[in-house]
Amino acid sequence: MSQTIQDGMVGMFHYTLTNDAGETLDSSDGGDPLAYLHGTNSIVPGLERQLEGRSVGDAFVAHVPPAEGYGERRGPGPQRMERSAFPADFPVQVGRPFGAQTEDGQQIMLWIVGIDGDEVLIDIDHPLAGQTLHFDVSIVGVRDATEAEKQHGHAHGVDGAATH
Ligand code: ZN
Repeated sequence: MSQTIQDGMVGMFHYTLTNDAGETLDSSDGGDPLAYLHGTNSIVPGLERQLEGRSVGDAFVAHVPPAEGYGERRGPGPQRMERSAFPADFPVQVGRPFGAQTEDGQQIMLWIVGIDGDEVLIDIDHPLAGQTLHFDVSIVGVRDATEAEKQHGHAHGVDGAATH
């Protein structure tokens, strides 16, 4: 009997992520499948929910609305800041999150959504917030989590052997 994806299991799948316009946003093509520990919110909730109970060989498209993906857009849109405001050793890359403090001392998470010369475009919303996501998924592996993975609350790669 084949194993199915449940809490405490590591699921492995290949995926291609597209938006409503059919543009490919991300894909595991040509690389390792994504390995994740089910039930830990390691991946967007709408995808995790639709992976439950699946087994090797299953292939399907999971349609994930913003509320179950990266959330609705909340902010005013991208804001500009000087590249020099980042520490010199900070790798400024589109899609990268970073922590910041508001004027009243609150810790918030911001995303780099663009780079324009000496300026960096930052946004309080995840770059994929407000978008319906379409994951074309094929399950390629299901296994029990190792003790270390259970303790850490995340998968340690396809074979569970990654150490840190
Ligand atoms: Zn770990």
